[in-house]
Amino acid sequence: MTKAAVCHSFSSPLVVEDVTLDPPAADEVQVRIAAVAVCHSDLHLLAGDWLGPLPVIAGHEAAGIVEAVGAHVTSVKPGDRVIVSLLRSCGECLQCLHGTPNNCRGSFALDRDTRFRSADGQPIHHGINCAAFSESTVVHSSQLVVIPDALPFDRAALLGCGVITGVGAVLNTARVQVGESVAVIGAGGVGLNAVQGAVLAGAREIVALDLVPAKLDVALSFGATRVTLEPKEIRKMDYAFVTVGVPEAVAQAQQMIRPGGTIVVVGMPALKAAMSLRMFDVVWSEQRILGSRMGSTRLLLDVPRLVDLYLHGRLKLDELITERYALTEINEAIATMGRGDALRNVVVM
Ligand SMILES: [Zn+2]
Ligand SMILES: [Zn+2]
Repeated sequence: MTKAAVCHSFSSPLVVEDVTLDPPAADEVQVRIAAVAVCHSDLHLLAGDWLGPLPVIAGHEAAGIVEAVGAHVTSVKPGDRVIVSLLRSCGECLQCLHGTPNNCRGSFALDRDTRFRSADGQPIHHGINCAAFSESTVVHSSQLVVIPDALPFDRAALLGCGVITGVGAVLNTARVQVGESVAVIGAGGVGLNAVQGAVLAGAREIVALDLVPAKLDVALSFGATRVTLEPKEIRKMDYAFVTVGVPEAVAQAQQMIRPGGTIVVVGMPALKAAMSLRMFDVVWSEQRILGSRMGSTRLLLDVPRLVDLYLHGRLKLDELITERYALTEINEAIATMGRGDALRNVVVM
């Protein structure tokens, strides 16, 4: 038996209950979760924004210890400390062959089956590829990166989603160059990581925009060179990163970039969100629009680099954690995230 926080109906509190977990298949790994952060994508899933079957276990920004491996797994072994990411890759599809495993469209048994059952034997679905709001879970082996002992689990968990999404959008998707200018719309968990990605890239000017003044103070401490509550105060930028999943923010970003500038759409929106842009400006000003899925991250290449940057004091992780909770307190951790009161709340098992 494993304890897990199960969503039985959208927008209702999770129920922490005993569930059973089947052993991993040949290319899968069972991980004992040590820490899992609450991300805005979990809020989308639990609100029903992405539809998806119920009951479901959310949670996808996690770290833990390998408990058991399937017969074909050689990349990790029991006892390894690992980061768990929703990114799953087959190594064989066109996207994987192009070196963009974050866009993998391979087929996985876990896309169709679940390893979780309720006490009365009903299947419970894996939310966002991870189902990490649980004491243990089963994931595909490609979703794991081994981490050193020096990296604490609660900090490590953040590298599973929010950090790689924000930093990767700047370094991988946009490839911002030294001396360029960057606007970041939204100074939440992903936005602050876009700010520190821009610092790592050597951006000359880094302007952060948010509706909440307190978040702007944090953005300054993460390396923003200027902050503002007013979109009109941002103009002629090389890049505008939209880290909130709100269509109006993309339209604002279009006003912020110079001719030839680039909008990078990073924040996950609701399924039905549609954005509206001035098409004339896209053509006449050669504006570029890039989507960034999980910061175009290649887990095995990018995560170890970020771990090193953290261990050398060049990447902030400690400052991203607002509060730590027990699994039994998970509804409170989710509620404060939903109110925008927290950067990252981490459930520590
Ligand atoms: Zn996430
Ligand atoms: Zn693939």
